[in-house]
Amino acid sequence: MSSSVKYIFVTGGVTSSLGKGILAASLAKLLQARNYTVTIQKLDPYINVDPGTLNPYEHGECFVTDDGAESDLDLGHYERFLNIPTSQANNVTTGRIYQSVIEKERRGDYLGKTVQIIPHITDEIKTRIKLLGKTGNYKFVITEIGGTVGDIESLPYIEAVRQLKWELGSDAMVIHLTLVPYLSTTGELKTKPTQHSVKLLLEYGVQPEILVCRTEHALNRDIKNKIALFCNVAPNAVIEARDASTIYEVPLLMEEEQLDIVVLNQLNMPVSQNLDLVKWKDFLYKFKNPKQEVRIGLVGKYVELKEAYKSISESFIHAGAANDCKVTIEWIHSESISDDNVNEKFKNLLGILVAPGFGQRGIEGKISAIKYARENKIPFLGVCLGMQCAVIEFARNVLGLKDANSTEMDLTTTNPVIDLLETQKKIINKGGTMRLGSYPCNLLEGTKAMGIYKQQKINERHRHRYEFNNNYLADFEKAGMTASGINPDGGLVEIVELQNHPWFVGVQFHPEYKSTVAMPHPLFESFVKAAIEKGETVH
Ligand code: GLN
Repeated sequence: MSSSVKYIFVTGGVTSSLGKGILAASLAKLLQARNYTVTIQKLDPYINVDPGTLNPYEHGECFVTDDGAESDLDLGHYERFLNIPTSQANNVTTGRIYQSVIEKERRGDYLGKTVQIIPHITDEIKTRIKLLGKTGNYKFVITEIGGTVGDIESLPYIEAVRQLKWELGSDAMVIHLTLVPYLSTTGELKTKPTQHSVKLLLEYGVQPEILVCRTEHALNRDIKNKIALFCNVAPNAVIEARDASTIYEVPLLMEEEQLDIVVLNQLNMPVSQNLDLVKWKDFLYKFKNPKQEVRIGLVGKYVELKEAYKSISESFIHAGAANDCKVTIEWIHSESISDDNVNEKFKNLLGILVAPGFGQRGIEGKISAIKYARENKIPFLGVCLGMQCAVIEFARNVLGLKDANSTEMDLTTTNPVIDLLETQKKIINKGGTMRLGSYPCNLLEGTKAMGIYKQQKINERHRHRYEFNNNYLADFEKAGMTASGINPDGGLVEIVELQNHPWFVGVQFHPEYKSTVAMPHPLFESFVKAAIEKGETVH
């Protein structure tokens, strides 16, 4: 067995959205189930230095790692599948690559050389790929190349892959994810788009070892042989990837097709007898065979694009399975809610989550939803901006501070119950400047939070600029809203909860980033349980 790190590249052909991220995560899951260490990296071909500055409508959710990287949502899938944290090094964009090359050029590091895409940009890409291998933590590094082969933007990445394959020999391989469309008029599966996209890769000097073919129908032997013949791959390296009912099914579909075995053989690695997917299958069984259903409202302003709340909806899947329950999310646009329609809109819901977000749009609708949850004793979870809105609602409607607000929404409010963090006051740049990543939090004995986490010290991930204003803390506590989680360094309020309510919790952090299949997040698990219990009292 070779001691070197193995590099697996996943490229995409024919069209975008075939699911490279889920394929990479599924392969990683199978390798992990065979007791190998593995991590997954995503290379994104856009110019933004990270997706932190991207509107969620453009790129879906921005995922945050422990070390504070604002990253692609695929990293969320990697963590949810593998149950190991990713880091800054797991997501690299073209913007980041160029930024560091240009910084080196300005420092004079290139000693008078003309700085070019090849070799300088490709060297920087290769360094970033090998960085994860050099940590010594992983036997396999899977690198997903964003975009589709043939895009102008991804060319330097494909060129870096070509160079690395040459350098690393049998320690590197390429899996190409492609589409085999079905023509209903003739009732045929068509292989030509796959042939063309492999030809394009070959033009760039890259021969893929494995082709994973997305298809609506089974690929028979003849079709697999035909693809193998035209694309220079072994017939058993043509892998069928049928549409799955859930992303969590994909590792099992890939196992049936023996993707992991073909990969291990290709890289000269032993195939262990044992493939441990017991917990995974147990989760999948529970997910597919729920004993009951609860409807939970997700209030946000990006609900037209469900990708914007990916980690939250996946957290509900994990928490639902843990409770033998299907959580049906009702997506509610915050701008559509007012005090006048809130009773009607929410009457069938057993829980309300108010989502993270930025800016004024939709705020008043969120506050109406929270007032309804508080007064009607509906289980409520407020995440980041959702927690801040819960504080504003309480200030206005319980403490009687009618103009209470966050200074993000109203700079002139006389009651800034949510205010800019001291550390944020002098910051002008937008990219990477929020309070980001994992921070410790101490929980108060006897609180709901403590009962849920069952430990006194926790760590959760943050992404925000504003914070609870501690000048108001005593008034809040007297009136029944308790600060049950506090940051030990600065005394910042990280969790609030209501005394006279079955389940009303607001968190300044993002618990959704840490929920995985193996470890559903305790807050989501408890929230879903509270919704189930609410259902029992109603029926
Ligand atoms: N806009 C709020 C802040 O910056 C909340 C951010 C969020 O919900 N992630 O503090």
